[in-house]
Amino acid sequence: MSNLEDRPDEVTCAGAVTPGVEIMTPRDVPLGGPRAMRVRRTLPQRQRSLIGAWCFVDHYGPDLVADTGGMVVPPHPHTGLQTVSWLFTGEVEHRDSAGHHAMVRPGEVNLMTAGRGISHSEVSPPSTTTLHGAQLWVALPDADRFVDPGFAHHAPTPVTGPGWEARVFLGSLLGDASPVPTYTPLLGAELLLDPGATLALEVDETFEHGVLADTGVLSVEGVETKKDDLAYVPPGRSTLTLTAHDEAVRVLLLGGPPFGESIVMWWNIVARTHEEVVAWREEWQAQITDAGLVDGHFGVPVGDERPPIPAPPLPNARLRPRT
Ligand code: MN
Repeated sequence: MSNLEDRPDEVTCAGAVTPGVEIMTPRDVPLGGPRAMRVRRTLPQRQRSLIGAWCFVDHYGPDLVADTGGMVVPPHPHTGLQTVSWLFTGEVEHRDSAGHHAMVRPGEVNLMTAGRGISHSEVSPPSTTTLHGAQLWVALPDADRFVDPGFAHHAPTPVTGPGWEARVFLGSLLGDASPVPTYTPLLGAELLLDPGATLALEVDETFEHGVLADTGVLSVEGVETKKDDLAYVPPGRSTLTLTAHDEAVRVLLLGGPPFGESIVMWWNIVARTHEEVVAWREEWQAQITDAGLVDGHFGVPVGDERPPIPAPPLPNARLRPRT
């Protein structure tokens, strides 16, 4: 998905480790358009902009397509990151400039590597009446951020136990491992807990974790976490305990070792400097002509003739670094 804010801020992101569990509440962001699908953004935030290499968490729905118009995100560029699409309900059709054409479906992860630059589009098909899911971004480390664009898909087999079910779409958990390659160690999983169930997860103690509550109320290491909150859990724990309160809970569990690099994030671009942001923005704008999107640094999504999304204006002032 594209960050469709009219005037996105430029954010310098760096990790910050705090001693205890920290509850991050979402902010509502309209994605533009006449009926405007809204998303709940929990990352980045002022107090924290990275969890491992996870740098962006947009959570949306369940939304009736009849009300929102569904997901219609025309061609737009990305650099320096991977997009991770995870749906609970509905479908989204993906097309990119590296020639990938794929459907995003519930319980199946689609990971697009932007690397040095890609453009793509995402549109929900007419058969989708409800959309519910998360759009996540992963920052690429400096050593790998200019890799060729790529795409991976994986449908994890659910792992089950008493009162819980898990789908591990990135990394390893509960004896399952995703085959999707990543450039830094990462964890991504959907967990379902029955009312009152407790799940004690063995986790990598070098990882920090984020627990995004999609439905229900749960305790994360004893700290109450409400629907739509993202609970941050610092590194240093080899067990992560989740307990559902009196209703069923669905969460996304994200993790990774603290990223250790500062990034500059603006619109759909992950860079290291403001100058890089400016240069990539100009490359994209140079591809937008009266005749539509023409080939250039980011290419043209194969099979999508929709007019592209122009880059928003750059902010007048750079923001202070955030930690
Ligand atoms: Mn996108």
